[in-house]
Amino acid sequence: MKYLIGLLIVISFDVYSKVVLIDPGHGGDESGAVGRINSPRPETVYEKDLALRFSLKLKKELAKSTSSFLTRSLDRTVTLQERADLADIVKADIFLSVHFNSSTNSTHHGFELYYLDNNSNVANAKVEKAENQNLKGEELVINQILVDLVVQQTVMFSKRLAGQVHQSVKPLLKQYKIEDRGVKPGLFYVLALSKRPGLLIEVGFMSNQKELSKVKQDAFLEDLAKKISIGVINYIKNENN
Ligand SMILES: [Zn+2]
Repeated sequence: MKYLIGLLIVISFDVYSKVVLIDPGHGGDESGAVGRINSPRPETVYEKDLALRFSLKLKKELAKSTSSFLTRSLDRTVTLQERADLADIVKADIFLSVHFNSSTNSTHHGFELYYLDNNSNVANAKVEKAENQNLKGEELVINQILVDLVVQQTVMFSKRLAGQVHQSVKPLLKQYKIEDRGVKPGLFYVLALSKRPGLLIEVGFMSNQKELSKVKQDAFLEDLAKKISIGVINYIKNENN
């Protein structure tokens, strides 16, 4: 019994010692995707606000068993490099970037999880473009080398993290009738710059009114935060075994 208690303390200490940095996408001058809802009353929703609302909920859940931080807790402009620098400052083990998707096709819908990989996929390129917006040409060229190195070092861990989070989230998506678009590779500079195992989460499509009405609800966002948190903790436990 004594050993069992000791073991439990070691396990929970291990999880608690892990640092998760949550990155609410966009902010300040950069609103990200813009969604509109017509009923019950007309409303314009900005990705930057929704990403922050969800990230705060995610932090609350993860803080129960890890050390968790946010790259921004207010509506302010933060560059991709500043977000990545914060990962070094807090010595993050895991980096989670939170976004909401958008498409010119208003029928597109669903939840997606991305990990950093530099394979070229036309379907993913559109999302990448939206989330990589504030990088200039010269930075892009330099960063290609960084991307290759970071992919080599993190892809195995990020894939396993994505797998655990996906597993945990799946039943919830079914419950809320949200399409599961699965785990995908993508070239996201914020993930490369952070140089950590990480994910970019696209919670749902803001360009689809029906989906936006669903994914902006507190109840859904709270349930999703719980499930993502469980997935992250399962990943940490598995890596430490
Ligand atoms: Zn975004």
